[in-house]
Amino acid sequence: MSDCIFCKIAAGEIPSVTLYEDEDFRVIFDIAPASKGHAVLLPKAHAANLFELPEETAAKAILVAKKVGAAMMEVFGCDGLNVLQNNGEAAGQTVFHYHMHLIPRYAGDGVGISWKTGSADMDALKVKAAEVGELIKKAERK
Ligand code: AMP
Ligand code: ZN
Repeated sequence: MSDCIFCKIAAGEIPSVTLYEDEDFRVIFDIAPASKGHAVLLPKAHAANLFELPEETAAKAILVAKKVGAAMMEVFGCDGLNVLQNNGEAAGQTVFHYHMHLIPRYAGDGVGISWKTGSADMDALKVKAAEVGELIKKAERK
C-alpha cells in the first residue's frame, strides 16, 4: 500500500532501527516505547490486521516473535515480555498494517497493560460459544 508507513518501513524505504529481518518480516524498535526495548514485528506484505493476514504469514509471525523475543529477554535483561496485537480502532490499533508488539517488562515498571475485570454470564456465553463453533465449521466447509 503506497500510503502505509509500515509498508515503507518494512521495505526499508523509511529508516528504522531493525533488530531482525528475514524474507517476510522486519522487527523494529517502536518510536514511542511503552518500555525499554519495545519492538514491533511487521510483515513485509501489507495486511491491515490479523484477519487479513494469510495463514502462513500468521503462523510464521509467532515463530519470529518467539525467536526475537527470547533474544530480547537476554539482551535487555527484562523479567517478562508482553506479546500483544491490536485489531481495529476500538481495540487500540492506530497503524492499520498488522503488527505484533514485543514489550519487555521489568518488575515494578508500572507499564499499564491491564483491564478491569467484570462478571461473566456463562449461560449467555454458552449460546455464543455454540454460534462461534457453527461459524467456524461453516467457514471450514467452504
Ligand atoms: P498500535 O496502537 O497497536 O496500532 O501500535 C502502533 C505502534 O506503532 C505504536 O506503538 C507506535 O508508537 C508505533 N509507531 C508508529 N509509527 C512508528 C514509526 N515510524 N516507527 C516505529 N514505530 C512506530
Ligand atoms: Zn502496510
